Amino acid sequence: MTESKVPDHRSTKAKKYRKCYGLKAWKAARTTQFARHRLCERCLQSETVAEATVVNHHTPHRGDWALFIDPNNHESVCALHHDGLIQREEKRGYVIGCDVNGRPLDPAHPWNQ
Ligand SMILES: [Zn+2]
Repeated sequence: MTESKVPDHRSTKAKKYRKCYGLKAWKAARTTQFARHRLCERCLQSETVAEATVVNHHTPHRGDWALFIDPNNHESVCALHHDGLIQREEKRGYVIGCDVNGRPLDPAHPWNQ
């Protein structure tokens, strides 16, 4: 995986905030998010229906509790989107994908600059 090429300086911090996923507050937020959006919101953008299994953070929280727990920063996604596409987007800095007209979804996409 390409992750292994990233220097390990993030892992200590990542270990700290990984614990947040075990907290009752997170479990409640996750349950609420799935009650609001049971289907993958990314799949729906391309008119595909898939069950959401992961609550993603629109803005990566990187240990920031306010971003971590803010329901407005949550989106329901399938594992495929979370493990592949979103990880790549975070590295690139823009949303990957096109609308039905072939235009990039993200106004920040280099094509739109
Ligand atoms: Zn999906």
